[in-house]
Amino acid sequence: MTERVRLLTLYPDELNIYADRGNLLFLRKRCEWRGIEFEAKEAGPGESFSPEEADLIYIGGGQDRDQEAVGADLLETKEEAVTAFVEMGKPLLAVCGGFQLLGRRWSSGDGEEREGLGVFDVSTERGTGKRLIGAVAVEANLLGERLLVAGFENHAGRTRLGVGATPFGTVIAGYGNNGEDGTEGVLRMNSIGTYLHGPLLPKNPRLADLLLALALSPNDPNPPGLAPLEDSLEMAAHQEALDAALRNRKNRNRRSRVRTG
Ligand code: GLN
Repeated sequence: MTERVRLLTLYPDELNIYADRGNLLFLRKRCEWRGIEFEAKEAGPGESFSPEEADLIYIGGGQDRDQEAVGADLLETKEEAVTAFVEMGKPLLAVCGGFQLLGRRWSSGDGEEREGLGVFDVSTERGTGKRLIGAVAVEANLLGERLLVAGFENHAGRTRLGVGATPFGTVIAGYGNNGEDGTEGVLRMNSIGTYLHGPLLPKNPRLADLLLALALSPNDPNPPGLAPLEDSLEMAAHQEALDAALRNRKNRNRRSRVRTG
């Protein structure tokens, strides 16, 4: 039987800041290179979908105004399907603005507090301080595997986890959810919310493969591994991104020592 991954992207025209499309292309290529059939579908404003139609959902980041434009539509046309999809244990990746929209509440540039989908037990406030920008390194755990994830963040919003929520990972360098509590993102069943932007997956091929493995066997706590690929370029990009995050941390520490000392 041919294996197949059906990827559904929510609001690809509105939420696609910072190379989100690179993440999608990367998922497609990793399937094609392994002879796994890949189908890409989209659901934009006004379009509903059935959770049975997809194996993996992606929702990207956006400017405040793009987020404001799709927030109400998400609640009106996709709430039930996204919630059911996540509760079926299928994998979803929500990045930055998409991550905020899937929380309980969020507020953006205009300061107004809005209702989110509530799929993730997190809330986002508009920060009053500087935007949290820069390279970030995170220690995460997915399917019992410890993962070092490297990426880039750029957000004004400060996200806090609800009492029972599990973070996607712990910040090693960078800001993460709010720059204060050391958490990054959220993990619910097999769904991830994160501030790490595209090209998150090309820089973290192991994360991409775990998502694909989950898409192929969502209810298997130990999904079969995928055929290995030649990842030397990807691993070089991963190392470069990790090094950038660690360099930033060193510089920040040095600057704060100069200020306080
Ligand atoms: N508008 C949100 C914020 O700044 C998300 C930004 C993004 O997706 N880069 O908090």
